[in-house]
Amino acid sequence: MRVAVISDIHANYHALEAVLAEVTAEHPDEIWCLGDVVGYGPDPNRCCRLVAGHATLCLAGNHDLAVLGVLPVSDFNGDAAAAVRWTQGELADDAREFLTPLAPSATRDDTALFHGSPVDPVWDYVLSEAGARASMELVGAPLVLVGHSHVALQISYDEGSLAGGLAHRGDVVDLSSARWLLNPGSVGQPRGGDPRAAWLTIDFDAGRAVFRRTEYPIELTQRDIRAAGLPDALASRLGLGQ
Ligand code: ZN
Repeated sequence: MRVAVISDIHANYHALEAVLAEVTAEHPDEIWCLGDVVGYGPDPNRCCRLVAGHATLCLAGNHDLAVLGVLPVSDFNGDAAAAVRWTQGELADDAREFLTPLAPSATRDDTALFHGSPVDPVWDYVLSEAGARASMELVGAPLVLVGHSHVALQISYDEGSLAGGLAHRGDVVDLSSARWLLNPGSVGQPRGGDPRAAWLTIDFDAGRAVFRRTEYPIELTQRDIRAAGLPDALASRLGLGQ
């Protein structure tokens, strides 16, 4: 089975459209989404429709849950909270129906999937060695997929020893060599200095994962963010990949 993994789309339609064009050209068997389809960006409804039409599995992220009213807006900082409130006013009925049943974790065959991490599927950020270790000790799955931090990661865990770190375009992971924790990075608001949309392919038969990056017209999303009256920082950060 070949799977494309996307995460943290954050209502960035132009990024999602560009990624899905590359994904569908490769005809994966499935597309998995690790959550945060909405929040921050200007196009929540079209993003929900695209994900609903393409993904075979989709998790709920903290922003999705806040927009639905499951989490309080007060859990979010200034710009994120403003975007949650804006999205609540924009969300169409079909987008709400798509997001409502989603959960922040799932298991598919030998893969455990979390928006945050096994420690806290909604809120925990895996950004440190200690965080990765805690996650790998909590679940026994050979492969653990997480999103939420918007930073692509490849961390191996073999009999208590960790290795790896940040993942870059073209990095290849041999899944047979150890247990792995992978974060595909973010489609719609990449952080870590590379502004290109991030995603991941997994070939389970070949035991291989590859980190991918896709260029998209960032200026169109920035224009839409400003036209929507969302905080300007949410536009400028896209150009920096931060
Ligand atoms: Zn996110």
